Amino acid sequence: MTAFSTLPLKPALLASVQTLGYAEMTPVQAQSLPPMLQGRDVIAQAQTGSGKTAAFGLGLLQALDADTTRLQALVLCPTRELADQVSKAIRKLAANIPNVKLLTLCGGMPLGPQLASLTHDPHIVVGTPGRVQEHLKRGSLHGGGIKVLVLDEADRMLDMGFAEAIDDIIGRIAKHHQTLLFSATYPDEIRTVSQRVQKDPVVVTVDAPAEQKPAIEQQFIEVEPAHKLDALAQLLAGERGQHALVFCNMRRDVDAVAQELDRRGYSALALHGDMEQRDRDEVLLRFANKSCNVLVATDVAARGLDIVALPLVLSYDVAHDPDTHTHRIGRTGRAGEAGLAITLCTPRERPKAANIEELGGAPLAWRTLKIAPARGKTLRLAPMKTLVIDAGRQDKLRPGDILGALTGEAGLEAKDIGKIDVFATRAYVAIGRALANKALERLRAGKIKGRNFRVRPLG
Ligand code: AMP
Repeated sequence: MTAFSTLPLKPALLASVQTLGYAEMTPVQAQSLPPMLQGRDVIAQAQTGSGKTAAFGLGLLQALDADTTRLQALVLCPTRELADQVSKAIRKLAANIPNVKLLTLCGGMPLGPQLASLTHDPHIVVGTPGRVQEHLKRGSLHGGGIKVLVLDEADRMLDMGFAEAIDDIIGRIAKHHQTLLFSATYPDEIRTVSQRVQKDPVVVTVDAPAEQKPAIEQQFIEVEPAHKLDALAQLLAGERGQHALVFCNMRRDVDAVAQELDRRGYSALALHGDMEQRDRDEVLLRFANKSCNVLVATDVAARGLDIVALPLVLSYDVAHDPDTHTHRIGRTGRAGEAGLAITLCTPRERPKAANIEELGGAPLAWRTLKIAPARGKTLRLAPMKTLVIDAGRQDKLRPGDILGALTGEAGLEAKDIGKIDVFATRAYVAIGRALANKALERLRAGKIKGRNFRVRPLG
């Protein structure tokens, strides 16, 4: 009984599920959807990849009345990246319901355009707590008609200090609403929040069946602090280091490690919470389009990243707590692909490793690494390089125009051109590293869509 058709879903939603090709429900969906559709509160322990977004997406769309122009569902997410992902998923599920209006409202984005798009309340808002709270306070958003509130990655939201904002939001929305709480981990704080904001919730916990569990191989390596960078560089030079995520506990280490790897010939970039949104976006884009092969990040910055199946995740330091460690290693081996998670541990960090071992319930796999003296510069550059064009959708520029300019006049082959991302006022194109200069020269000399735009290399 795991077919979606066994659920009392609106035909439009059943049609979407079919279009998306979901043959049957995932375990989280099978357990959470029936109570959700009855209007019950649900607390579900669910990881990314469990199908949780479709679960609450279907739940809130079922409750939605598109003919009433009122805000009826609010989804709170810890990061903008996750909010964007969730919005996309809900839009797909809502594709067969006419006139559904969904708005994404996140911090780090200018308020003006958000206010402009709020002249009429949307049916659904997906956003980060701080910004949603601000709109409710200002009166630019009205919570009186909210039927469903979703807290996605609730553990992360608490970690990021959003508890107060969430409480304030709940105080500003309709008293009687359904609350759906999703969290990857289940610390006491989550139970407390659930007790505070939910009424008699149905508890859903699902262990991914063994065959669906992504294969993650974990290794711990003891190193002296002075050898950490050499160890890291050596591990990244291995076969799986072509696309790797490195976690550091501290922000200043993120910068230092990225710079040192860059000096040693890697295309490494730093990602941390203090960066401007535009810089963060560019770093993520370059990691996704393969013009950066090592992303060095803090835990906060890496939350909600939409990066699938990384072959290698490295902890430069042992995470301060086992939950954070679990989140780190969960970044590898996704989508059924085998992954490797390696943690560097200095002798002083042994107690933290012991803690992880205790909570994991299985002995850690320690291995030794013979650190070879660095022999000059090991060139490990990413296969692509990114060019930025100072024009975008506002200039009616489309990916096809860029592809056309490069393969036409500039004489490149389609296979040398990677991901093309077009935003409102700028566009990014990944080019095979060896041909990037040629492409740049040609684009500067020629025209795109008959016009001259400024083009420059990134990094
Ligand atoms: P999530 O856990 O929400 O991040 O979803 C992980 C992925 O699973 C997404 O790409 C969904 O499109 C996909 N998915 C969700 N539900 C199903 C389903 N019932 N069958 C197959 N794929 C699904």
